[in-house]
Amino acid sequence: MEPVSLLVGAALLAAGFAAGRVGRRRPPAPPPQLTPICGCGHPLSQHDRESNTCYAELRRDSYDKRGRWAGHTWVACTCRQYVGPRPVDEVFVPRVLPPAD
Ligand SMILES: [Zn+2]
Ligand SMILES: [Zn+2]
Repeated sequence: MEPVSLLVGAALLAAGFAAGRVGRRRPPAPPPQLTPICGCGHPLSQHDRESNTCYAELRRDSYDKRGRWAGHTWVACTCRQYVGPRPVDEVFVPRVLPPAD
C-alpha cells in the first residue's frame, strides 16, 4: 500500500471516528433531580410541614411464625424529621452546569 493511500485511509478513519463521536453525542442531560429528597428517600411533600415527620408508608415483607413469607405489610416510615434540602435553599445554591464542549 502506498504511503498516500495510507494517509487517506487514516484521514477517513479519523473523519469517521469524529463523525461517530458527534453522532453518538447524547442529548443534553436532564436537569438534576429537583425534587428535594429526605434521607429516608421520600420527598419533602411526604413530610408533615408541622411535625416534620414522614407519613409515607413502606412495604415490608412479613413472615409467619414458621418463617414463610406471608405477604406485605405497610408500615409507616420511621423518619421523624426531614433532613433533605429545602426548596428555599436551592435559590442560593448556584446551579452546577455541565462543562461546555
Ligand atoms: Zn424523611
Ligand atoms: Zn420517609
